Amino acid sequence: MATKRDYYEVLGVNKNATDEELKKAYRKLAKKYHPDANPDNKKEAEAKFKEVNEAYETLSDSQKRRMYDQFGPEGPNGFGGGAGGPFGGQGGYYSYSTSGFDDFGDLGDIFSSFFGGGFGSRSSARANRGPSKGADLKATIDISFEDAYLGCEKEVILNRNETCTTCHGDGAKPGTKPETCNVCHGTGTIKQVQTTILGQMQTQRPCNTCHGTGKIIKEPCETCRGKGTVRKQARIRVKIPAGIDDSQTIILRNEGEPGERGGSKGDLYIVVRIKKHSIFTRKGDKVLCDIPITFTQATLGAELEIPMVDGSKEKYKIPEGTQTGTSFTIRNKGFKAVNGSYQGDYIFTVQVQVPKRLSKEQRDILVELAKTMNEQPPVKKKGIFG
Ligand SMILES: [Zn+2]
Ligand SMILES: [Zn+2]
Repeated sequence: MATKRDYYEVLGVNKNATDEELKKAYRKLAKKYHPDANPDNKKEAEAKFKEVNEAYETLSDSQKRRMYDQFGPEGPNGFGGGAGGPFGGQGGYYSYSTSGFDDFGDLGDIFSSFFGGGFGSRSSARANRGPSKGADLKATIDISFEDAYLGCEKEVILNRNETCTTCHGDGAKPGTKPETCNVCHGTGTIKQVQTTILGQMQTQRPCNTCHGTGKIIKEPCETCRGKGTVRKQARIRVKIPAGIDDSQTIILRNEGEPGERGGSKGDLYIVVRIKKHSIFTRKGDKVLCDIPITFTQATLGAELEIPMVDGSKEKYKIPEGTQTGTSFTIRNKGFKAVNGSYQGDYIFTVQVQVPKRLSKEQRDILVELAKTMNEQPPVKKKGIFG
């Protein structure tokens, strides 16, 4: 495993940095290393960007920061592997807070891109004691090419566990209270000392009496039957930024399932899928389109009306003698960078159409024309090095 740089060092802050200082440092670096802002050395910027995001992801979460300060990047379970630690799975994606960026400053959401990594093993098993974060949820949303181009707001409908409003999550009938388990004394775990070849080892297992919760509910809440949560259908509005690409992920913080023992809610990961368009295709930040033209337009030159993704039309003059397959660029009509002011280009490629049927007049004119140029063009020689 490659050794990781210290997260504080990555963000250029000292160990006592306040949340505000972290945020400031992070924003500055995220802007600087955003891949879209570094078209010339994208790979390197991407790596830096990922590193910065990973550092911030950890240090901005007080619980993770404490763990990090105490155990380092691999976490308490990090004997060589690291994947099972509290930070396991995080290498698979990056996320950044959009709250600091102009385009959707009111959002407070997190937008992220997966770098081929799977849905992380973030909610790896933790010790039973103490607060634990709720489960992360995943949803998929299909949007049109135009919606991806312009940005949009959509609704995701999903079933999730929500804190029971009758008992406010403690699972006990209103008027009663959960009692502390007298087997584990509220810790939820039973400690055992075992003698092994390495000497005496202390192990822990969840308490069977209270199922690791540390509490006994004598009279369960009738709404949730003591679970503290109820399954509900939730409708969640999600703002999708202009320029989002297929398979990118938006993270909505705290829209996952409720945490346990006072833990924070999980997050909702929304994978955005973009439907194919009948005339446009996308390549990175570019919009590509084939434009059919007549052979007279190609020969004489013409002013074309080019359809834009937003529904408008752009006039474009092609010169006389335009060959089929020639591409033309309209600047800044491609996809916006999700997180910045940069906008890609629109590139259209003309395809000369040869008419299959002509009127008599057209045919006569062409025959006349043919008499003046009815010579087969010479066969093109191929370059030796081509
Ligand atoms: Zn309840
Ligand atoms: Zn117990």
